[in-house]
This record gives sequence, structure tokens and C-alpha cells, in this order.
Amino acid sequence: MPNEPAFNKASHDIYPNSVQKSIAIVGDHFSVNCHILKTKADLQLWRSQQNSPIGFVPTMGSLHKGHGELIKTCKKSDNNQHHVVLVSIFVNPLQFGPKEDFANYPRDLDQDCSLATKYGADAIWAPSVDEIFPGDDGSHFKIKVPSRLQAHLCGRNRPGHFDGVATVISKLLCLVKPNVLVLGEKDWQQLVILKQLIRDLGLPVKVVSVKTIRDKNGLAYSSRNLYLNSSEKEKALSLPRSLAIAAKQTLEGKVLDLKQLHSSITEKGLEVEYLELLDPHLLQPVDNTNKLSLLAAAVRCGKTRLIDHTFLMQRQPIIAIDGPAGAGKSTVTKAVAKKLGLLYLDTGAMYRAVTWLIKEEGINLQNESAITQLLDQAKLELKPHKSGKQKVLINEQDVTEAIRSPEVTSLVSEVAALGNVRLALTSQQKNMGFHGGLVAEGRDIGTAVFPNAELKVFLTASSLERAKRRSNDLKQQGYLVPNLKDLESEIIERDRLDSSREISPLIKAIDAEELITDGMNIEEVVDALITLFRLKVPQEVWPNSSE
Ligand code: AMP
Repeated sequence: MPNEPAFNKASHDIYPNSVQKSIAIVGDHFSVNCHILKTKADLQLWRSQQNSPIGFVPTMGSLHKGHGELIKTCKKSDNNQHHVVLVSIFVNPLQFGPKEDFANYPRDLDQDCSLATKYGADAIWAPSVDEIFPGDDGSHFKIKVPSRLQAHLCGRNRPGHFDGVATVISKLLCLVKPNVLVLGEKDWQQLVILKQLIRDLGLPVKVVSVKTIRDKNGLAYSSRNLYLNSSEKEKALSLPRSLAIAAKQTLEGKVLDLKQLHSSITEKGLEVEYLELLDPHLLQPVDNTNKLSLLAAAVRCGKTRLIDHTFLMQRQPIIAIDGPAGAGKSTVTKAVAKKLGLLYLDTGAMYRAVTWLIKEEGINLQNESAITQLLDQAKLELKPHKSGKQKVLINEQDVTEAIRSPEVTSLVSEVAALGNVRLALTSQQKNMGFHGGLVAEGRDIGTAVFPNAELKVFLTASSLERAKRRSNDLKQQGYLVPNLKDLESEIIERDRLDSSREISPLIKAIDAEELITDGMNIEEVVDALITLFRLKVPQEVWPNSSE
């Protein structure tokens, strides 16, 4: 690899003493014991003494509040289990180019220990270069990142950089064997690459990301900010400010002008290395912001290279959950909405409410004009309620309970197949989703209502599993419960009707994730959905969740 740095380990072994020690650090407001591990043997011993799941935060040291947030997030319990947090401090020579700042990269182990411990680290692992890459440069395995993932942004401008990152992280993960790996969204391209590395190699670790942490002026914390003098710091601010303006304008419906943005950043005295608009997951260029997109830049401020990015979107995120009747969509959708702080758009309830009204008015389903007139005059409302249960009102009458009756259930597929009903409700749902920030479930949400949803899920289960769930629901609601075989036949017939109707049949959108929920409990399905959401939507875009 021509651009790989030739490193001199001896001169950069900054922590040569490889003896395990405990030091007491007394900071301004705290006094703690910080356990510093140096060798692989230290690490192995420490690891063998832990009884809780291990959370891992890899860093290059020179810690700041951004790293602090990663440590705090890592510490937070996962499903009520406490994590022991290990922070590694390792300036990885493989990720620096020959003319880059490996030798001068800021290093201060005492200060790092003090900060890491203050934020909640239980141990720090600061190995030497020789400990991680013994032998000379040509004597260890290296990971090659797929060219697509590094064809843009820092990948294009720092050849070999991500191969170096991927190599060291795989090595560290194999040695630490953590349950959870916490990474910053600050290095978005790195995050995407490492997530794919972990998925491709099947490494048994959960990746949790943390949004970019900024100072009060908006400058992203970075170890390299130490290189900036005060006037450069002021100048550097024009990068996050320009990106933030672009994000705001996109939300307001303005078309992004990359050339103009480039000029305006240059005019502020920053030298633009790259400024690109990409699909945030594929890391390939896009030419519009119809979907969530990544606007990322690298600039030189004086001699210091800074990177930053923002996400552009025209509305808040949408999750579309489709699937056959009885797959448990409404229960899990409600729970996901609550956990992520999204609105819950229960489209099934809308079809049920219209069905209820048609029955109530005694209108024949063949009478198209009477139904169209009814729809024109109907006022349909979904109102969030303190109890967490959403109220359904039609023409100001509360039909929340009535629409769950077996009579409505047996008629709703036929009503939902009527063209005029479909048209009226689909257009109402689109209006409700204009600003996004919601999760909707139904039969055609990902295909017809919100084809641009950030996450589309096809939630399903076998007909027998669904019959069992339906039977339990009916029992709980106090209705007479038919035998399981009849319930299953009813479900199979409803699937047939839903999938074969002419207008918006139930089909899985091409880009939907299929989740088969047989044998999963509600909590497991909700967790799986939230994991899928987090794969698609950065914390920075939708942080306010109680996951
Ligand atoms: P580094 O020490 O620069 O290798 O970074 C170690 C980890 O901290 C990486 O996962 C980074 O993405 C993350 N990180 C660095 N700066 C920030 C920041 N300002 N906000 C959030 N995470 C950050």
C-alpha cells in the first residue's frame, strides 16, 4: 500500500512502561482510582475479572467532551444491565498518511485518565504500538475497506486511512471482545465503514452511535482543535454555521446550491478540501435532498484539517410498517412511537372508523356515490391520549373501542379495498405526514403512502402464530373466542383479500426490511425495530428518544 505510513515504533512508544498500575487521580471535583492497562496480558486479566457486559470506547486520546459523551453513553445500562466501560487510548500509526501529524498528535495520558474516569470509565487500555502491531510494518494482517465506501469524503482524500482504521478496530475488538462498541457520528464515514465491517465479519458486538458533540458556539469537539489559535477558532466556526444554514434551508424547502456553499465557506477564509452531498449509508453522491442526505466537508483552517457534516432532510423521519393482519403491528408500532418520541399514525384505525360509519349509516358497499359523499363529509381525528392510547373520533364521536368489534374486523378488508375509500384516506395520511416525525402502520404505507420513509418494515408472522395472538386479544377484550382453526382460516382469507385487491394490494416494498416475529415477544420486536431505525437514522437527526 503506497500511502501507508512507514512508522518508527521505537520513537513513538510514548507509554513504554507496560506494568499494570492503579493510580489515584484527584481532579477539581473528584477523586478516583483509574485502572491503566498496558499489555494484552493486563487486558486479559482485567477482562477475566469482570462480571458485567463490557462496553468499549476506542479513542486516540487527547480526550474532550465528545469522547466524554461516548463514555457516558457506554456506561448507561442496556436492558437494565450495567456496563463496565473500557476506554482505549491508542494513536494508530496505520491511519496516518506519510505527511500527516502522527508524530505531533496530541498525547497526555494523565489528563486522559483523569477525564475518562470523570466521565465513568472503569479502565483505560493504553497499549504501545508494538503491543498491537508487533514486528515490522510488513508482518501483520491488514483489512482492506471496500472501494465504494472510501471513494468519497476522507476516503478519497486520505488514501489508506480507513484501511488503517478498520485494521486497528478489528484487532482491538478481537482482543477486548466487548458486548457494546460506542462510536461517534462525528466521524460518519468511519462509523458506516465500521458498522459494515462488523456485520460482514459477523463480530458479536452491538454498535451504538453518539451524535456529534459541539461547544457552545457549534464547533465540533476534536482533538485537533488544540492546534487552533483563537482567531483560527473563530474562523473555523463558519464551517458548522454554513452547514447548519444549509440544513435549515433544506427543511424550509430551499434547493441546495453546493457551488454557492463552497464559495461562501472559502470566502470566510477556510480552504475547502471537499464538500459533498451523499447518500448517508451508501456514501455515494446524490443530486437532491428528497431523501435524508449527508452534507459533509473537510477544510483547512490555517494548517489544521477539520471535518464536519450535517444531515439534510425536508421533513422529520418517518417509519412505515406494513404487514398482514394480526402480525402485532399496532402494539409494537405504538411502543416504538413512544420510545422514539414519534407520533403514531394508526391508519388501520382510520379504515376501521370509516367501516364503522358505513355500517352505522347502513350504506351498501356497492353504493359508491353514497360512500364518496359520506367520506367528503366525515371528520376523522386521531388524538393522542395521556394513557398512551390514541383516541379515534369520527364526526366527533369517540369510536376507539367500537372499531375493534368483530363486526368491524370482518368487514374492514372489503371497505379498505374500495377505491374511493383508499383515495380519501391515503391523501389524508399523506397530509398528516407532511412534516414527518411519525410512525405509521398499515398495508400500503411503505408502497403508497410514504414511499420515501427512512425506514420501511414488513412485519409478519405465520398464520398460526397470528391466529393464536388474535385468540388471546379477543379473550382479553371479553369477546367470544372462535376455535383456532377457524381463526386461522379467517386470517388466511383476509391475507388473500388484502394481497389480491386491485388498489394498493398488500405487498412488501422492495426496500423494506422483513421482520418475521414468530417466537418473538413484544419487547424483542420493539428492540429489533429500534435497531433497524438506528441503522437508518442518525442520532443527530432524531436524538430525543428514551431507548
Ligand atoms: P478519536 O479519538 O478522534 O479517534 O475519536 C474516538 C471516538 O470519539 C470516535 O468514535 C469519534 O467519532 C468520537 N468523537 C470524536 N469527536 C467527537 C465529537 N465531537 N462528538 C462525538 N463523538 C466524537
